[in-house]
Amino acid sequence: MYTPNPDLKEFVQSLPKTETHLHLEGACPYEMIQRTNPEKYRTAPPMWDDSFRYDSFDQFMDMYAEFCAAVFTSAEAYHECAKKILQNCADQNCRYVETSFHIASLFGGTMSGPELVQAVLDAAPKGLEVRVFMGMCHNDYTGIGKTIIDDCIKWEKLSGVDIHGPEYIPMEPWTKDIWQKAADAGKILKAHAGEFMPASFVRYCIEELNVRRIQHGVRCIEDPSVVDLILEKDVTLDVCPISNVKLQVEGVTDMAHHPIRKLFDAGVRCTVNSDDPFMFGNSLSEDYYGLATDLGFTHAELARLARNGFEIADWESPERKDCIRELDAIAGSGRSL
Ligand SMILES: [Zn+2]
Repeated sequence: MYTPNPDLKEFVQSLPKTETHLHLEGACPYEMIQRTNPEKYRTAPPMWDDSFRYDSFDQFMDMYAEFCAAVFTSAEAYHECAKKILQNCADQNCRYVETSFHIASLFGGTMSGPELVQAVLDAAPKGLEVRVFMGMCHNDYTGIGKTIIDDCIKWEKLSGVDIHGPEYIPMEPWTKDIWQKAADAGKILKAHAGEFMPASFVRYCIEELNVRRIQHGVRCIEDPSVVDLILEKDVTLDVCPISNVKLQVEGVTDMAHHPIRKLFDAGVRCTVNSDDPFMFGNSLSEDYYGLATDLGFTHAELARLARNGFEIADWESPERKDCIRELDAIAGSGRSL
């Protein structure tokens, strides 16, 4: 999407980065999809075109089903995909990744949740710290979904839970109970909000679900009182700029109008992420290029955004502190574009 000048390209590559909003299925390597039907998938998918825009989230899900769904049928498939996805993160100088899988992959009974989580963790290249989350839709607490959701709180290597899928499906009372149980078990709570539903849904996830890690959340900008709540509760927004542009999120007519600039300036802790790089044809680095190119983020500001990811990382280690020190040095050096 972006062709950066050599200086910006080198700078973004040099930044130690995190990726804290990354769906494994939406990051599916194209070669894995091509393997399911070489004839059908000979050419680049239409979504990779710069001018491509989804006209709705339903269209996004239809295209996801068309391209990616057939790949994720076993723990081995997750492992193979995760190996390529995580290596791609490491190649972009990413040091810490939080990635999620969708609960529906477990409905067929071909793998257990702990097997899937382990398969992804085992795929991490050396030097990349990885945490795995399970994502579920607002209405997944039924049938086998109910059993899995109740059970996942006991999966030792699952780092947390995330609610995703269509935001317009009403939230059901089980979510509050499960999110509380997950918190009691030491899991990290996330929720997709403020992408397609207005700021009030961001407020709901903060106040009712006790979430401090909102995925997207950008529509909070529509209500200053929700921005204030985010600041007061020290909430982080895991923002995905190119995803928001291609999905035509309300108010994001193009990158130059993405609210991350206003949110950053207001002191909201935002991280930069790629979301579903197969579905958008983007990369984490390109999201950084977009912020520099269209929103005037300076080198120091990009370093501060990268730092935010390490600040909230579930990673107690000297390496994490080294990354923060390195980014502080860059942010404080006064370099600008
Ligand atoms: Zn997402």
